Amino acid sequence: MADEKKDSIHKRDDGWQPVTLPGIRRLQFFSDLRDRALTKNFNRLAMLGIGASLALDVAKPIAGGAPQTIYCYECRACYATQDKCPAGIAYQAELNVATRVGDPWRFIRAGGMKCVRCGGCVSFCVINLDLPRIFSVGQEKAMAAIMAGRVPRRQIAEAFRDGLFGREFIDRVAAWLKQNGRQA
Ligand code: SF4
Ligand code: SF4
Repeated sequence: MADEKKDSIHKRDDGWQPVTLPGIRRLQFFSDLRDRALTKNFNRLAMLGIGASLALDVAKPIAGGAPQTIYCYECRACYATQDKCPAGIAYQAELNVATRVGDPWRFIRAGGMKCVRCGGCVSFCVINLDLPRIFSVGQEKAMAAIMAGRVPRRQIAEAFRDGLFGREFIDRVAAWLKQNGRQA
């Protein structure tokens, strides 16, 4: 009898909580769903949105051929490369992020098309990312975006004037600019 009473005191009663998943009556032990949001559905929608954006953050770099970029802390320790970079690139982390998010103009503007993939910046990366490989993917993506007309001609011409295209790319970009000379 005493044991029964003890059990009933310690038994958790979840019956009044809303069903969050089949067979599960609450979302987290430490919270009361009734106090959390205006409606239960709003709460679920918010969780779904957070989950989807996290999944997209991971899926996009994997699909884009640069999975290592996910691990970049964006700590900027690689900026210490300074004069060890033969191409004079000052913002290696920026190149990493631009490759991760698939932003060709951001990559070009940060000097990514001048990178000769020498690996001089790798020893400055706190997690030893394979930066030349990542930047190579960024360069391929940027060239593909230029050729497909996804970067405005005005921006490409500006980058060209500013010397942001290295020897490897300059001929192709010059030809593209010539061929697309009349476009805005
Ligand atoms: S890999 Fe590219 S960014 Fe890194 S030091 Fe060499 S040229 Fe500079
Ligand atoms: S040092 Fe490495 S982890 Fe930090 S920002 Fe640069 S690339 Fe990313």
